Amino acid sequence: MLAAPWCGRPPLAVIGLGLAAFGALLPDIDHPASWVGRRTRPLSAVVGAVCGHRGLTHSALAAAACVWLLVVGGGHGPLAPLAVGYLSHLGGDFLTPRGLPLAWPLKRRWALPLLRTGSAAEPLVVGVVVLLALVVAIGPARRDALARDTGLCALGGPPAALLCRPASFR
Ligand SMILES: [Zn+2]
Repeated sequence: MLAAPWCGRPPLAVIGLGLAAFGALLPDIDHPASWVGRRTRPLSAVVGAVCGHRGLTHSALAAAACVWLLVVGGGHGPLAPLAVGYLSHLGGDFLTPRGLPLAWPLKRRWALPLLRTGSAAEPLVVGVVVLLALVVAIGPARRDALARDTGLCALGGPPAALLCRPASFR
């Protein structure tokens, strides 16, 4: 939803959301017990055996392929939501202590370990991202009305900076 305007799509378009959700699940095809791994069992078993979990599918090569898809399509290609979803998965994994093997097949991992999978902070971060996505999805007119009606613009700070256009401060 956050990237939808950049991709030239409505934030709540069903096909775009579906592709983004599928893209966000796709990197874990290297884990046969993951949602996508269970549904692609023979393929996920091979990918997991050859590359290991959080291997090639979580590497800079995979990220570069997604960026290439976005650049080639100018952000508007049919696979843009899939690539954005895929990159969001890599971004989330990058924030965990296990990190990403960006230079795969080298073993070294890079991480910005701000979150632990299953920790109390995880739903908070997910909630903030979903809230941001909804703020984008409702559009500028409704966002202005919401900010004005709730008095957020008068409070100032980061929420006001996010929600309030200069016209909302009047
Ligand atoms: Zn992953």
